Amino acid sequence: MIAGAGAMGCRYGGALSEAGHEVLLLDGWAAHVAAINDRGLRVTDEAGTRLVPVRAALFPAAADPFDLVIVFTKATATAAVAAASAGAIGPATLLLTLQNGLGNVEALRVYAPDDRLLAGVSMYGTELIGPGHITALGSGETLFGPLAAAGRAAADLVGSALADAGIPTRVTADAMEVIWAKVAFNCVMNTVCSIGSIPVSALALYDDFDALAMSVLDEIAAVARAEGVTVDTASALGVMKAQFDPSASGSHLASMLQDLMNGRRTEIAQLNGAIAARATEHGIDAPANALIARLIGLLEATWSRRVNSLHPGGARQ
Ligand code: NAD
Repeated sequence: MIAGAGAMGCRYGGALSEAGHEVLLLDGWAAHVAAINDRGLRVTDEAGTRLVPVRAALFPAAADPFDLVIVFTKATATAAVAAASAGAIGPATLLLTLQNGLGNVEALRVYAPDDRLLAGVSMYGTELIGPGHITALGSGETLFGPLAAAGRAAADLVGSALADAGIPTRVTADAMEVIWAKVAFNCVMNTVCSIGSIPVSALALYDDFDALAMSVLDEIAAVARAEGVTVDTASALGVMKAQFDPSASGSHLASMLQDLMNGRRTEIAQLNGAIAARATEHGIDAPANALIARLIGLLEATWSRRVNSLHPGGARQ
């Protein structure tokens, strides 16, 4: 079952359904659920558009445990969505999160012990372009692992199911390290592109990017270290700069910028906001992350009043 079937939940649920698994997409958007049940999930990719037959339902889940529950809501809603999915989580159910941000694992630990809890990241790009319709972009890897060594066999089983469904997947022994690496990436790239209102490729024009990124990354690495996780800041910076190449990112807009443009809440509290909060708990200074979290909060509160939105043609005559 997919708990929170937006863009990514539909992509994974649709692929697993096409591979022959019995899938239920559980979500809170009534028009989306109705569209999927009426005509199937509409998936657009490089090959065109196809309809995938798959069942959908509104929260809460019925008391009917599934083998696997993939939680794929925004990180802002993980605790609420997990609570509304509790009926589908039985004593043998595996829980998987591939969401961005910090705090998802902690919220899901309430519902499954670490040997049934799988966590990681997805490098896919997917957009929900209307009720029951997603655009599946790119072919990035899915990387996850168990939270306890005893969960390795379960992780391998889920990894094989995803790979058989056409999703390039790798199982790792260090789930938290891959989650923190993506958090580090998003804490810089998502926020800087949002504050600048620029596509990722425009960062190549800024000579001081390394210093800006490192001021954020060094704090993240310190907080991660306090939690027993290593963040390789040099490698994180390299991954970011690889995205400057327009052939890697094209005119791609960061998901946080898209959230702002669409008037949606961002995941800032689970990114730089979480770093700043955890830094305080550990007695570490994290002023760069705290400031970035506040600036994104400012953008969330004031986006509709932006000068560019009021004067789309640029400077007034
Ligand atoms: P999403 O925004 O597509 O969906 C999240 C929820 O919002 C869903 O329950 C969806 O039904 C609801 N929703 C969306 N549009 C709505 C509307 N117009 N009206 C009412 N409800 C609406 O979320 P997502 O992009 O699938 O992201 C899920 C998680 O995966 C997040 O943690 C995200 O950071 C992460 N992620 C996303 C991508 C991506 O390319 N989308 C890639 C990697 C990781």
